[in-house]
Amino acid sequence: MIQYGKHDINQNDIDAVVDVLENHFLTQGEKVPLFEKALCDYTRASYCVAVNSGTSGLHIACLALGIAQGDCIWTTSNSFVASANCARYCGADVDFIDICPDTRNMCVDALEQKLLFAERTNSLPTALVVVHFAGLVCDMQRIHKLCKRFDIAIIEDAAHALGSSYQDERVGACEYSDMCVLSFHPVKSITTAEGGAVTTQSKALADKLALYAKHGITRDQNQMQLPLESQDQGPWYYQQLCLGYNYRLSDLHAALGISQLNRIDDFINIRNTQAQRYLDCFSDLSLHLPLMPEEGKSSWHLFMIELENHDRLQVYNHLLSEGIRANVHYIPIHRQPYYQSLGFEKGYAPNSERFYANALTLPLYVGLSEQAQDHVIKTVIDVVSKPTR
Ligand SMILES: *Cc1c(COP(=O)(O)O)cnc(C)c1O
Repeated sequence: MIQYGKHDINQNDIDAVVDVLENHFLTQGEKVPLFEKALCDYTRASYCVAVNSGTSGLHIACLALGIAQGDCIWTTSNSFVASANCARYCGADVDFIDICPDTRNMCVDALEQKLLFAERTNSLPTALVVVHFAGLVCDMQRIHKLCKRFDIAIIEDAAHALGSSYQDERVGACEYSDMCVLSFHPVKSITTAEGGAVTTQSKALADKLALYAKHGITRDQNQMQLPLESQDQGPWYYQQLCLGYNYRLSDLHAALGISQLNRIDDFINIRNTQAQRYLDCFSDLSLHLPLMPEEGKSSWHLFMIELENHDRLQVYNHLLSEGIRANVHYIPIHRQPYYQSLGFEKGYAPNSERFYANALTLPLYVGLSEQAQDHVIKTVIDVVSKPTR
């Protein structure tokens, strides 16, 4: 069965993990700081805090901005639920901006309209969570300009986009954002099994991120809030400054991440080659295809077609009968029962809803052979050439 996405593990990855098991600390050793340094080198961010998932990363990014009850964050509904849940963990409200049908990313015109209205009604958000959908980077320069004007923080949800670049910078460099959140779940650009990271150019934010990811505890005397009594004089001493969490990544996972990051250029090139093949082979079909970025690079985390004249379930089942397990991304977040219970109704983000109704995610991953992709291409062309509705 051909899956829609899959990790790629080689012997070096296995050796890196076994080396930790045999020779190093399993947690709080040297591998996590080395992985953080490698991520900084790759993205050209100044600071990086590795965590146990992208979701944890989004949570501590909100905490580092001081987001709490009474605040509101805005994001897009065409994403995984974690993009919105991070605000709810902090007791803040969430609102959604619709996507543009061509980029499937946050519609910046809609953002501008909503900001102007929010300014008049005194309901501006504290932060935006900007999702680079499928690896295509949002119009960050324009989003940044708008957010500056209204004094709104920007968190990039770059769970899809490690390896993407925008203008001359890699995603993670935070040129147009306060923080950038990465995920290393097995279907993402690189994997640590579970894992994530937050990058930033701000020392103050980096300190807060580290604090929230590690129980709120510091061993840095410069950060301590109370004077040390004589009994506290020693290297064992620490202070808890705030209510943090145990969101640490383990050294086992970090060793896998370091090894995977060594291969990211190959990974992204393979993904781009596969995406270009799909685009070339499907150009004559009655399908809505994803955009290849004109400048910069997409990580091609996912490849989604939008069906125009076909019943999605029929196409899905036909692919399945041919040994291809496609997928669908995403059920709009505001259509989830939890978010409906907060008052969001059908039609709130019509472009996201239309996208979900017609989208189908085709297999794209490093280990997908040319032969297997040919089979996917032939099967899609066969089924789409015969209208079913
Ligand atoms: C995968 C994903 C996350 C969450 O990452 P985890 O590492 O699985 O917690 C957040 N946002 C988006 C858009 C994702 O695709």
